[in-house]
Amino acid sequence: MSSEKCDVIVMGCGGFGSAAMYHLAKRGLKVLGIDRFHPPHDQGSSHGETRVIRKAYFEHPDYVPLLHRAWDLWEELAEKSDHKLIERRDLLMSGPPGSEVTEGARQSARLHNLPLEDLTHEEAFKRFPMFNMPPDHTVTVESTAGFLRVERCVGAHLDLAQANGALMRCGETVKKISGSAGQLSVQTDQATYSAGAGILTCGAWTGQLLQDYAKLIHVRRKTLFWYPIQNSVWADPVRAPMFFLDLPEGQFYGLPSIDGRTIKTGEHTGGETVKDPSTLERSILAGDEAPVSRFVEKRLVDIESTFCRSTVCMYSMSPDGHFLFDQLTDLPLVVAAGFSGHGFKFASVLGEAAAELLQKGRTSLDIEFLSINRFAR
Ligand SMILES: Cc1cc2nc3c(=O)[nH]c(=O)nc-3n(C[C@H](O)[C@H](O)[C@H](O)COP(=O)(O)OP(=O)(O)OC[C@H]3O[C@@H](n4cnc5c(N)ncnc54)[C@H](O)[C@@H]3O)c2cc1C
Repeated sequence: MSSEKCDVIVMGCGGFGSAAMYHLAKRGLKVLGIDRFHPPHDQGSSHGETRVIRKAYFEHPDYVPLLHRAWDLWEELAEKSDHKLIERRDLLMSGPPGSEVTEGARQSARLHNLPLEDLTHEEAFKRFPMFNMPPDHTVTVESTAGFLRVERCVGAHLDLAQANGALMRCGETVKKISGSAGQLSVQTDQATYSAGAGILTCGAWTGQLLQDYAKLIHVRRKTLFWYPIQNSVWADPVRAPMFFLDLPEGQFYGLPSIDGRTIKTGEHTGGETVKDPSTLERSILAGDEAPVSRFVEKRLVDIESTFCRSTVCMYSMSPDGHFLFDQLTDLPLVVAAGFSGHGFKFASVLGEAAAELLQKGRTSLDIEFLSINRFAR
């Protein structure tokens, strides 16, 4: 199929692209989504069962208004798709005095009036005996947190986008983007498509399609592991919180069991540079497990130290760890990339922002702080 004309072409239908397609199609725009794989898939950055969503955002308080809207939109999607997509769960954060994680969360909570519960080491140990935290670390618990079923969310956005008339071309790779005001041409390995505008959101591959972004995005290989639980407390949604621990050995996060048998955990810090995401090493290598199983052995109680399941994923890091979200001026294109290992929870709200930008030329959401103009400044 060649030379098809539609309103918007979405390049990359993963975490963010699927949400953008849904919000565009819902507004009555004629949308074509193109993906090199068949989303939801396990080749990019949106797989591995779950993603944490939280509101006392340690990365920056400016994300908090977006998170309120993001949460509402995920709930709305769950209702419309009739799938369980989001579940509320406490989040325990800990770190040394002055830690970016605990101090950042407290600052966002103060500025946006969010409930956070600070615990002494003794209180934390009593309430959450399944963690071995260093005695000088401070602990805070967020109740406005939860997790998203990541592949289900991508699938729900795509299903509802198509139910609203969006078309999809899977197994087709975008090779070249060109155009001028109001006229976009997208060349794939199979056809050429034209549209009034486009959204480029190819995750770890974005830099291969836009030179300016190649300089800004640094892709990291990340591993995730599931470990069997030895105590049913880990399967108790009230007693076992999600966790994000800022430790001398690195930052580690995890989600307690959703299958009743395992916890999922990984290291947020670290990860080798990926030169080409298409040749990413997808099997677990000898050195991959050691830091995580050392963490499990030292810091978690009643978890087996040999993993039973794993996957490999990618972080697309921006220079400052904040997202890259812009409407370009030289091409009729919105670019959403560099989600830096914390972007999935925002797919719903930023998908809406992109749809508003393309339909009305503006959005009511405050996203200016995510513009790449910050690097020029
Ligand atoms: C291990 C791990 C844990 C994480 N934990 C969290 C968390 O707890 N909470 C959170 O909010 N975020 C988390 N993140 C980050 C979050 O998952 C990502 O930021 C988000 O999923 C990125 O979505 P994306 O749409 O940019 O990329 P993707 O979902 O990878 O989508 C990009 C799409 O583009 C397609 N594509 C690529 N190139 C082309 C091309 N040339 N032509 C056509 N299609 C193309 C790909 O096939 C893919 O489908 C985590 C990430 C990882 C890896």
